Amino acid sequence: MKVVTLAPRVDTEKCTGCKTCERVCPVLAIKVVDRVSVVDEERCRGCANCEQRCPEYALTMVKRENPITVKTDVEKVPYEEIINLCLKAKLNPEQLVCYCTATRADEVAAAILLGAKSPEDISLVTGVRTGCKVECIQPMLRLLEAAGIKPQPPKNGWQWYGRTPTVWEIPEEIKAKYNKRGFYFDEDIKLLDEVVAAKPADRRGD
Ligand code: SF4
Ligand code: SF4
Repeated sequence: MKVVTLAPRVDTEKCTGCKTCERVCPVLAIKVVDRVSVVDEERCRGCANCEQRCPEYALTMVKRENPITVKTDVEKVPYEEIINLCLKAKLNPEQLVCYCTATRADEVAAAILLGAKSPEDISLVTGVRTGCKVECIQPMLRLLEAAGIKPQPPKNGWQWYGRTPTVWEIPEEIKAKYNKRGFYFDEDIKLLDEVVAAKPADRRGD
């Protein structure tokens, strides 16, 4: 969940229409029209990426008169479906996947089960990836993949990285090679499997 309190203001005198802001927006909320940047405030999630990257200092984050609360209600989806998707992605439903917005895997899974088909869709409905924009992309991609969705990065988008392999996917020969150097992949996997499978707090009595 995120409470969006800020939005960018464009100084049209300074904007050169370079499109850097377009490329770094995690929710595709800013577009250059007639060589000037235009913000869709309803879509904007207040991350300040555009302000931080604008080479002309043409954007300034200002307080919104009416902050927006962005949240996907996990109760709109049967919780068993959420658990199944999270387990398939090797994530515990209660695990934080976005530290900036304190969003758990179950909320991202619910967003996907309710129709989100890309990291941009997920950011829009959960607020995930509108803080540091770094930590959460992997769990988002893992959950999308577990749901059978293979999103493509937006054209010229810079706020998107490919999925990196998880510990479960390390080939046996690589494990064997590094085990000799003091790595403990199999033990790590055993421990992580326990973390993934731990029952959510509200279901421990089931
Ligand atoms: S990054 Fe700055 S200068 Fe470039 S289009 Fe956006 S607002 Fe204009
Ligand atoms: S979501 Fe972030 S990058 Fe996109 S318009 Fe809003 S503040 Fe700028």
